[in-house]
Amino acid sequence: MQSVRLNGGSAVHIGTAPVPEPQSGQVLVRTVVSALCGSELSTYRGPGSAAGNPGHEAAGVVEKLGPGVTLLQSGQRVGVSAISGCGTCLYCQQGQYTWCAKKAFFGNMHAEYFVAPAIACHALPDDLSWEVGALISGDGFGVPYHTSTKLCDPRIARVAVFGAGPIGQGQVLLQNHLGRQVIAVDLSPRRREYALALGAVLTLDPAQVDPVAAIREFTGGGAEACIEAAGKPATAKQCFQVVRTAGIVVFNGEQPAVELSPSEDFIRRDVWAVGSWYYHFSEFPRMLALYRAGAPVAKLITHHFPLSEAAEAYRAMAAGETGKVLLHYP
Ligand SMILES: [Zn+2]
Ligand SMILES: [Zn+2]
Repeated sequence: MQSVRLNGGSAVHIGTAPVPEPQSGQVLVRTVVSALCGSELSTYRGPGSAAGNPGHEAAGVVEKLGPGVTLLQSGQRVGVSAISGCGTCLYCQQGQYTWCAKKAFFGNMHAEYFVAPAIACHALPDDLSWEVGALISGDGFGVPYHTSTKLCDPRIARVAVFGAGPIGQGQVLLQNHLGRQVIAVDLSPRRREYALALGAVLTLDPAQVDPVAAIREFTGGGAEACIEAAGKPATAKQCFQVVRTAGIVVFNGEQPAVELSPSEDFIRRDVWAVGSWYYHFSEFPRMLALYRAGAPVAKLITHHFPLSEAAEAYRAMAAGETGKVLLHYP
């Protein structure tokens, strides 16, 4: 089969690899679409991947069942969660695989076939396109949805999103769909355009204006919620400078240590800060319901490429020119 290989230093080629064999509890999936994730860029720009590839958002058809699989059938359409759990602990029983002590990550999804645990596969209903299926079973919509579960306070009217890459764009789309005013901050003009198209009321270029002052002025004192989706200590600090008293900061972007002041950033302003990682397998039906209620999930996709043009797909994403980028398989 054909499979994406990242050779390091931004080099991509399509290699060949044997079709993997599903082990006990696993299924073999024939890939129809896979989505690129911003988290792959460190591998792409850096050392590459000696074996396989970091693809972890995909939808396809169950081709073969491994021993013991009764949940799925051959020929079924599925979208796949890249994180699976032991299947038996309390968290797994509740579909919260990211909290399982034995959680495991499954990649290699930028390939014509990949294996995944059966318990990590969402059956895709017929009214769901492959593209939307991949987004609501992967990071594309899963991360924004899981983040939204941390932003339930009805007083949240304004949300500032720092970093309008693919995840930040999903936050803009969903928070706008939920009726909040969204302000997006990003250096890339293309990403600011996408954020406006997804419903942001204001976008800011931090190279041109001080986003802290601009957001304070626009909101009359600060946003009730800030989402850090840039993965930078500087933007994390700005979130705390911009969040209103009694507001909440959510960390999405992985990043190194940040210096915060318990007194200034938290205590004296009753500020909350929480992390939000990936999504819970059990959240899929609620994401599906949001999509069916009109959340325009497909608008997150800005680029489509055939597998053979994977190198151009990575180049465009790395250049900050894209929202979600999809690879299509023959
Ligand atoms: Zn990802
Ligand atoms: Zn478990």
